[in-house]
Amino acid sequence: MILILDPQISSDDERLDYLMKHLGQLPGVRAQLHQVTGSQQTLSEIYLIGDTHALDQQEIAALEGVDRVLRVSSDYRILGRHKDDQRGNGFEYQGIRFDQQSLHIFAGLCAVDTPEHVDQMMAALAAQGLQCTRMGAYKPRTNPYSFQGHGASCLPWVFEAAGRHGIKVIAMEVTHENHLKEIEQALEATGNPCGVIMQVGTRNTQNFELLKALGRQQRFPVLLKRGFGITLEESINAAEYLASEGNDQVIFCLRGVKTNLGDPHRNLVDFAHVPVVKSQTRMPVCIDPSHSVGRRQTSEDGILDLLHATAQGVIAGANMVLVDFHPEPSTALVDGAQALTLEELPLFVEDVRIARRAYEERVALHQTASQS
Ligand code: PEP
Ligand code: MN
Repeated sequence: MILILDPQISSDDERLDYLMKHLGQLPGVRAQLHQVTGSQQTLSEIYLIGDTHALDQQEIAALEGVDRVLRVSSDYRILGRHKDDQRGNGFEYQGIRFDQQSLHIFAGLCAVDTPEHVDQMMAALAAQGLQCTRMGAYKPRTNPYSFQGHGASCLPWVFEAAGRHGIKVIAMEVTHENHLKEIEQALEATGNPCGVIMQVGTRNTQNFELLKALGRQQRFPVLLKRGFGITLEESINAAEYLASEGNDQVIFCLRGVKTNLGDPHRNLVDFAHVPVVKSQTRMPVCIDPSHSVGRRQTSEDGILDLLHATAQGVIAGANMVLVDFHPEPSTALVDGAQALTLEELPLFVEDVRIARRAYEERVALHQTASQS
């Protein structure tokens, strides 16, 4: 059961103390307080965990300080959608709104290699009016002898470059709790020129200790990739770990699943799940066409199949596109085969706009149809 409190009740309000004490005395029930950071103010919610079936919803709703009560109707208590759930979705970070209505392109380097390439990449983004990027410093590699990423040593020059080019948010994969501290330190040392969304890669979707560590902090939002060999339900439960620890600023990323049935693509593209995740949860949904498709192949109609996959995700309502670009893909240290070039960026952005317009037209069409 979720108790949505009166917006007037701040975290140091006496009424909140009283309410928590009262709820704590209910038999077989544990009360957990969550602060939800909205664009205007911080709201409080209380989660009642345990044997809540016997509780009378109206009685709980009548308690002082309680605005509304929701009965939890899905496993995903915090991030899920429940019956009559009117709660909003998404969050604001670095002045940018991330929710199930917005769309942001995060084009950038799979792996940071040289300061020149980082600079060229960010200049190309800025020329397109883009404020977000992806930059890999810590790379989880299949082969221990492959390039593992520059790690903490590249962070200062990556963040400084972001500041110079007006890039506000970088999606950056972390594979260990320590990386969070290294990123925090590098941001402090460079005067916080940008923000970072912590990316959890597909190999770490169920690294529960990493999820708990990222969930215990609220400074950085998290982009959680779907696990490539587990069910969608298991991956959404992994997202719920972040929220259950206190961080509900989570974006869920579809990146294909591992099976030969996807051949000749690197993974089987799963963007038909965009609307599924949006209806089951309140998370914004990202697509990663690069790691799904994994190659540059032009289709018979002259369009790269990577762009076809991107359009499929966007026309289904995706809220974010994470995509690999590189100034010189043949020299890229990781995933050069799937990287688009900087010259292709304007075309990519325009193609995404077309797919987005088509999505908006589809939404309008179906709304009109349902009203008539
Ligand atoms: C990446 O985005 O760089 C990456 C390694 O992706 P994934 O975890 O989906 O393989
Ligand atoms: Mn990659």
